[in-house]
Amino acid sequence: MNERLECVTCGKRYPVDKVRYTCDCGGLLNFERDTPQVGRELFDKRRATARVPVDQSGVWRFREALMDVDLSAIVTHPEGSTRLYERGGIWFKHEGENPTGSFKDRGMTVAVTQAVRLGATAVACASTGNTSASLAAYAAQAGLRAVVFVPSGKISAGKLAQTLAYGALCLQIRGDFDTAMRLVREVCDRSGIYLLNSINPFRIEGQKTIVWELLQDLDWNPPDWIVLPAGNLGNTSAFGKALREASAAGWIDRLPRIAAIQAAGANPFFRSFSEDFATRHRVTAETVASAIRIGNPVSYDKAVAAIRLTNGLVAQVTDEELMRAKREIDRMGIGCEPASATTLAGVRKLRSDGVMKPGERIACVLTGNLLKDPDAVMKTIDREQIVEVDATIAAVERAITPPLL
Ligand SMILES: *Cc1c(COP(=O)(O)O)cnc(C)c1O
Ligand SMILES: [Zn+2]
Repeated sequence: MNERLECVTCGKRYPVDKVRYTCDCGGLLNFERDTPQVGRELFDKRRATARVPVDQSGVWRFREALMDVDLSAIVTHPEGSTRLYERGGIWFKHEGENPTGSFKDRGMTVAVTQAVRLGATAVACASTGNTSASLAAYAAQAGLRAVVFVPSGKISAGKLAQTLAYGALCLQIRGDFDTAMRLVREVCDRSGIYLLNSINPFRIEGQKTIVWELLQDLDWNPPDWIVLPAGNLGNTSAFGKALREASAAGWIDRLPRIAAIQAAGANPFFRSFSEDFATRHRVTAETVASAIRIGNPVSYDKAVAAIRLTNGLVAQVTDEELMRAKREIDRMGIGCEPASATTLAGVRKLRSDGVMKPGERIACVLTGNLLKDPDAVMKTIDREQIVEVDATIAAVERAITPPLL
C-alpha cells in the first residue's frame, strides 16, 4: 500500500478510500505515503509561474507530496500563498490571509476534496469558529450540506457571521468546545456525516503546507524556531509531520525547533510538557483567545511526537501578555486575532528566559485575521483614538490632538 492511514499508536494500516478517523485500538491515524521522489524546484517553478487555481494554491502546489488525486476533483478556492512579513528581525507568516481568514482553509481544501471522493453528502465539525467558517465555505463550493457544532455564546461575532453567511446549519451547543467535540464525533459515527475536525487525517495533510510554504518563502533555509499557537493540537501535529517529510525528501538539511504556545487558562499541553509528557492533562479552559479555548486537545499524541522530533517545547502566556502582543502585531500594520498573538508573546518570554538566543532566526505563524474578533480589538485601542464630534470645521479641528499644524 503506497497511500494508507496508519495508527500512530500500534502501526496498524487502513485503506484511504474508506471512512475512518481512529484505529481499532483507539489511536489517532496519520495519512502516510512513500516519500515522494520530487524536488523542491518543481514547487518553486509552479509558484513563480502559476496560472491555474491548483498551481496558485499554496496547498496543491505541493500535490505530489500530498495525495494522489485527479486535478479535476480538487475543491480549491485557491488558498494558501500567504505572505511572510519581517518586522524587527522576526518573521510572521500570515495565515489570516487565507480565503476565510484562517489557516483552517489549508486543511479544509484537502479534507473536503476527500469528502467528495468518498461520496459524502454532508460534513460536520465542532469549532471555536474558524473551522466552522472554513468548512461552511468549502462545503458551499462543493455542494455539500454543512452542520457545525459551536459552544453557545462562545464564538466571536465575525466567525459566527461567516459560518451563517456561507449557509451552514449552526448548532449552538449548551456546553464548551470539548463537549461539542465529543458530541459531533458520536453524531458522525451514527449518521454517516463526514467529520472534518483535525482528527480527520486529511486536515493535517493540508495544514502541513503552512510549513512547506514557509520554508519555500525562506529559500529552503530553515529558521531556528517555528512558533505557533496550540489549542486542539492539529496544527502542532501537522508542523511536525511536515518537517519530518521535508527532511526525508531532502528539501531541508536540518530541523527547526517547534515552539507551541498555549494560553495559561487553557494549558493542558503545557502541563504535560512540563512533566516530560508523563501524563496527559485535561483542564476546563478559559482565555480571551477563543480559538484556543480548548481543555482536552484531540491530537495530543501526534503533537507530542512533533515536539520530540524537533527538540521543541511548549510554553504558556497569560491573557494580558497575549493581548499586549496582539496590540503590537496590530500596530505593525499586520494585525491578527488574539490566539495568533500567543506567538509573539511566547517569543518575548522565551527570549527573556534565555531559551531563544540572540541571532536565532524565528518565524511566528499568525493563524487568524484581525477582523475575526472585533470585540477583542476594542479592548486594545486607546481611548483617545475614538472621538465623537459635531459636524463643524471648528469641532473637527479641536478634536485632532495633538494639532497637526
Ligand atoms: C484553530 C486555530 C488555532 C489552534 O490550532 P490547533 O490546531 O487547534 O492547535 C489557533 N489559532 C487560530 C486562529 C485558529 O483558528
Ligand atoms: Zn492502533
